[in-house]
Amino acid sequence: MSDVLADVARKASQCTACKLAETRTQVVFGVGDPNADLLFVGEGPGEQEDLRGEPFVGRAGKLLTQLIEGIGLTRDDVYIANVVKCRPPGNRDPQPDEIAACSPWLDRQLELIRPRVIVTLGNFATKLLLDTSDGITKLRGQRFDYSRAGVDATLIPTFHPSAVLRGGGKPLAETRADFVVVKRVLMQA
Ligand code: URA
Repeated sequence: MSDVLADVARKASQCTACKLAETRTQVVFGVGDPNADLLFVGEGPGEQEDLRGEPFVGRAGKLLTQLIEGIGLTRDDVYIANVVKCRPPGNRDPQPDEIAACSPWLDRQLELIRPRVIVTLGNFATKLLLDTSDGITKLRGQRFDYSRAGVDATLIPTFHPSAVLRGGGKPLAETRADFVVVKRVLMQA
């Protein structure tokens, strides 16, 4: 399956389906194990990610890495993707037309990787994959069944690492608790 995913990534690298293509340095498709049981979905690349071509390599990425390592895994054990694959200029929010144009790439990633657990990081990923308008503060602390296009996974919404960095102790403690649930679900047969 990894060859197919690499092929999809090559195609995505040429994508011009939305206006973010005009301002990006490069497409940030995703990184990690193409057979991962655990897949993270963030919002979209920031400045560092746009320059490096890898998701979550800036400050928020360092926190995500720590949270992953806190449950005994490494970045190489998981797969990390975003709702939009190109940086919104000035780190603005991705717009609905950009999310709609980009979501087929995320759908392909999910179909090919077939994770057992999906962690949505923040509002954009959570709202997209749960098809809800409820916000992350309401939804975190719960688990959901994600069943679409041959993917049967447990979806666990948690705060975006950037929000944790802004919010301090309470969201950090809640996010750590969510990661403990992730670990527990992964350990179930
Ligand atoms: N924030 C995101 O949502 N994704 C990244 O890749 C980096 C920061």
